[in-house]
Amino acid sequence: MMERTNTDIDRFLRSEMTVFKGYAACKSPEVVAQRLGIQVADVVKLDANENNYGASPRVARALADFTYFNIYPDAAQTEVRQELEHYTKVPAEQIVLGAGSDQLIELILKLFAAPGDEIINLGPSFPMYSFYAGLGGNKVVEVARDENFYVDIASIRRAVSPKTKLIFLANPNNPTGTMTSFEDVRTLAEIGVPLVVDEAYFEFTGVTAIPLMKTYQNVMVLRTFSKWSGLAGLRVGYGLFPPLVADCLHSIRDPYNVNIMALIALKESLRDIDYLMGNVDKIIQERERLLLRFTEMDWLKPYPSQSNFILCDLLRGDAKQVQQKLEDKGILVRHYADARLKNCIRFSVGKPTESDKLLTALQEIGGQIK
Ligand code: PMP
Repeated sequence: MMERTNTDIDRFLRSEMTVFKGYAACKSPEVVAQRLGIQVADVVKLDANENNYGASPRVARALADFTYFNIYPDAAQTEVRQELEHYTKVPAEQIVLGAGSDQLIELILKLFAAPGDEIINLGPSFPMYSFYAGLGGNKVVEVARDENFYVDIASIRRAVSPKTKLIFLANPNNPTGTMTSFEDVRTLAEIGVPLVVDEAYFEFTGVTAIPLMKTYQNVMVLRTFSKWSGLAGLRVGYGLFPPLVADCLHSIRDPYNVNIMALIALKESLRDIDYLMGNVDKIIQERERLLLRFTEMDWLKPYPSQSNFILCDLLRGDAKQVQQKLEDKGILVRHYADARLKNCIRFSVGKPTESDKLLTALQEIGGQIK
């Protein structure tokens, strides 16, 4: 046999992958705590729209009692889809689970958009639509939201071409918190292009596009357990699709895409909805308190939000520097490189004690900005 001596692996790599810009994920609180010489528990994490109240206590109990880690999860997702049918009132045949709704975004793009096909992104919005579209060689057609971050339906219509395969609408939108009205979602559905309505923050609004699915075969709805039920670390989301689309997604997904712990946690969360929605209510109350306090600071311009976060424009000072100063005080918030958001900061809404620390730090930093 000929000996292989060539160790030059670079030339085998796909060049379009080697230049691909990855997702700018949040810093780990452990790394920040170590740098600052503080306890991880003392880091105030307001940068990833997580739920700082945590999961239902039922989740920890059920996971502690579970022993069958050696068995693969149910590839058909039968039981959890039935439970989600009960929760959403959409038939189980139309439900597909993913390792976070992120994974469903990836699968939907794989199913609809071939390399060279177009998708419409209503930016600024959730970066994972463009991320996966870029990975798949799709062209991302940007249709900018207006100055208050509302979608511009006339421009969206104009942007549709024969190559358009999907429109992504985060509702409410991340990172702006903006809600698109039910009637506007209907108008977008009427365009006829497959429309993904990403309702990651549904439990904070109660407004859903699900009723449109009966009339419009092109409407798909995404949801997640990361936000309202505090399971971001376990990675579990689901989507509601026309039956044919659900069948295709089941065929192209990894059979064991959602791990057993996530499935157990999902079921326990659905048995503890009142507790979890109590936390959602607390977060909404806290959001409104923060919004008022931000409005009182003359260097911040907060945008109204229907989610568990608030985006602020900085009227004075540099957003990147403010984010860094907050990090130096152990408070993590989100800054964006994106041109439209360059002088914005997104604050996730945590517990009242966390808001108090944030507000004190902002007062201090604001006092230093000329
Ligand atoms: N969609 C939107 C609009 C989001 O903000 C997020 C999370 N930041 C997701 C989807 C992804 O959620 P998951 O954790 O289920 O992947």
